[in-house]
Amino acid sequence: LSSVELTQLYLDRIKQLDGNYNSYITVTEELALEQAKAADDRRAAGNASALTGIPLAHKDLFCTEGVKTTCGSKILDNFVAPYESTVTRNFKEAGSVMLGKTNMDEFAMGSSNENSYYGVVKNPWDTQAIPGGSSGGSAACVAARLAAGATGTDTGGSIRQPASHCGITGLKPTYGRVSRYGMIAYASSLDQAGPMTQTAEDAALMLNVMAGFDHRDSTCLDHEVPDYSANLNDSLEGLTVGLPKEYFSTGLDSEVEQRVRDAVAEYEKLGAKIKEVSLPNLELSIPSYYVIAPAEASSNLSRFDGARFGHRCENPEDLMDMYKRSRSEGFGEEVKRRILVGTYALSAGYYDAYYKKAQKIRRLIRDDFMNAFEQCDIIMGPNAPTSAFNIGEKSDDPVAMYLSDIYTLSVNLAGLPGMSVPAGMANGRPVGLQMIGRHFDESRLLNAAHRFQ
Ligand code: GLN
Repeated sequence: LSSVELTQLYLDRIKQLDGNYNSYITVTEELALEQAKAADDRRAAGNASALTGIPLAHKDLFCTEGVKTTCGSKILDNFVAPYESTVTRNFKEAGSVMLGKTNMDEFAMGSSNENSYYGVVKNPWDTQAIPGGSSGGSAACVAARLAAGATGTDTGGSIRQPASHCGITGLKPTYGRVSRYGMIAYASSLDQAGPMTQTAEDAALMLNVMAGFDHRDSTCLDHEVPDYSANLNDSLEGLTVGLPKEYFSTGLDSEVEQRVRDAVAEYEKLGAKIKEVSLPNLELSIPSYYVIAPAEASSNLSRFDGARFGHRCENPEDLMDMYKRSRSEGFGEEVKRRILVGTYALSAGYYDAYYKKAQKIRRLIRDDFMNAFEQCDIIMGPNAPTSAFNIGEKSDDPVAMYLSDIYTLSVNLAGLPGMSVPAGMANGRPVGLQMIGRHFDESRLLNAAHRFQ
């Protein structure tokens, strides 16, 4: 099969099926076929790499030169990126094909993909259900076979949770492993890009392309990049799996818990030792995250002022009026809520009470993980308290939505790598097992995931 044929197959499927799921915001048909043709030539010339000619989709917060990049927002509805993000440039250089840009919660704020200006995404397993968020479009398009793999980003769970709800594999790398250059920033100290795929093997291939130092992102770390495909088949004999007792307490759906316990039992059969560990400050990750993330967001989103790019209101009376109306018209409800919370938390007089305290809790959470990793090599648990809920079920209750992030947020606060691997069905909908590793231990996560699959 040539890349042109393969790409055409995916494009046809998108045309036929994506009306049901709404997983793409933009389909770049012409560009995809051009890239596929170039990939076929490159293969014929003998200088192809593993992902040359493979059709992928990118979350619509990666800037892609010459292609509309909306971040799920009305404020960027007319924005054609003038430059390429490092992640998408790496895929271009590897010869991968871009099928299009995927739907997402506006500015990556959300857990259900109901906050997109471009409409809700539906879960391919059950179109009544949310696909998870904020990388819901990426998860849905991979689950529905509308792309061979996709990029996502994870600030507090946005790769792992939608991967879990859509029955696919998703990996959030260590903070600093993948360059954030050209990713539209949500919360810069937490944001990290990663692969969303059918299998751990595919995730390894994508991470091989994504990972590495980039001088254009000052938080990107110059740490050796291993071949992530090399150790997938290693034995798990002697691996110590830690189960944090706080991950199995009240609020966890019993079927979800059962699937996670079944998965852990499989690991025992594969030679792993199971140990109970504790993350005593887990509960504080929600208040800490929901101060830090909005604080950073309120600062990052100040650039959307109607002056240089993006939506501008009609006939502004003066500069203030332009700022006010452009932002009021361009941002959705959830984004406005976060800007207000974040601005409040950073204001004079409140900074010490909220932001500084949240940063101290962040340190405690990181230390909890460091202590747990003295006793185990890998942590396992659920990604979310329930399998995918119904569209509309939590959309007018932001706090209920925030609470459902309990198992994922702490991993970002600690900068650790985390992964979701399909682990069966709970209440008729897919559910994933979450695995958390030490800093830069992505290879071990991929190895464990691959042996399970
Ligand atoms: N649900 C979380 C939030 O709304 C996480 C989102 C993300 O990881 N981008 O902030």
